[in-house]
Amino acid sequence: MAGSDHTPAAELLQGQAAAHGAHNYHPLPVVIAEAEGAWVTDVDGRRYLDLLAAYSAVNFGHRHPRLVAAARRQLERVTLVSRAFEHDQFGPFCAELAELAGMQMVLPMNTGAEAVETAIKTARKWGYEVKGVPAGQAEIVAFGGNFHGRTTTIISFSTDEDSRASFGPYTPGFRVVPYGDLDALAAAVGDRVVGVLVEPIQGEAGVRVPPQGFLAGVREICSARGALMIADEIQSGLGRTGTTFACEHEDVVPDMYLLGKALGGGIVPVSAVVSSREILSVFRPGQHGSTFGGNPLACAIGREVIAMLKTGEFQERSAKLGAHLHGRLAGLPESAVREVRGRGLWAGLEFATLPGRRACELLAERGVLTKDTHGSTIRLAPPLTIAEEDLDWALDRVAEIAR
Ligand SMILES: *Cc1c(COP(=O)(O)O)cnc(C)c1O
Repeated sequence: MAGSDHTPAAELLQGQAAAHGAHNYHPLPVVIAEAEGAWVTDVDGRRYLDLLAAYSAVNFGHRHPRLVAAARRQLERVTLVSRAFEHDQFGPFCAELAELAGMQMVLPMNTGAEAVETAIKTARKWGYEVKGVPAGQAEIVAFGGNFHGRTTTIISFSTDEDSRASFGPYTPGFRVVPYGDLDALAAAVGDRVVGVLVEPIQGEAGVRVPPQGFLAGVREICSARGALMIADEIQSGLGRTGTTFACEHEDVVPDMYLLGKALGGGIVPVSAVVSSREILSVFRPGQHGSTFGGNPLACAIGREVIAMLKTGEFQERSAKLGAHLHGRLAGLPESAVREVRGRGLWAGLEFATLPGRRACELLAERGVLTKDTHGSTIRLAPPLTIAEEDLDWALDRVAEIAR
């Protein structure tokens, strides 16, 4: 199947992509033409179940009718005015997102990396103006194995050589401590530390769940030392783990949520920093911005995403189907599996010997799409809307290769 008996049309498209698209990705040999819900169809008419959901950007499935309708309505009205003017979607989007998060203020951007950059700038400015850190001395602590995006500043504190090497000189002002290690964090958070940037679950690192009590410990250290707890929930948030935010699993409220991916409903890139009025008030006109951030189309789609999350049904579905997913993964042959991690409808499955890339190829041949990360781990993150029988069908395929 995939990769072996492609039609000339598919071969041509793959060849064109390889010849003219930079090779910064290594896609599986599947050329998608259409999608609906949890299913995608390739140019040859083959159907695959999507167990990656664009790294959780497609939490509500492909082309969810509510989201497509919201986008269509807005396309007929106004799509972009820049932030030089107000528009009628901006205020409601910010108010509704702040309410969903239990916060007060929102700074919308487009990609996740921009939300992270915004948080870094916010924390530094807050550090100088509110905490009183000497000019140019602010530090931010991040964790080993982190993934926060691809800008030159963000890769400066990456611990992944592929992401970081060859891209220096690096932005100073960051310290990195081992993920899950509260003693190391406590030792690193000195007077000049303005923020601690943490993924509640590390997605790209292979769906790594920290030890119980870690997030609460981060919160405690941040509060005690006067540093901002910045929760990067770009992948873990908005229903993926069975709750709106993954921080909820430890009853932790950070100082800033970073959101992205699913906030755009799988239609447009929408990201945001959500925080208190005090913290986000460090920005005055002209000090930060984005031509596309907070545009009418993005806000209209984001508002529909928020309305869908407000019902709680997607979080509930994620928790219920997640329990089923983890139950079935626990039943895979012990000899084939090194470890299964995750929470909600999100799993990192590490095979004993089968390389991750090979596992993904075998699954694609069987009609299941997923993506490897760091060697032998594959991640399973289907749309939260997936039908239980479809999930079971995909897990039967996983069981076939797990031997
Ligand atoms: C994907 C991701 C980002 C970066 O988002 P982009 O939209 O790709 O820039 C940042 N943090 C986390 C945790 C992510 O998963």
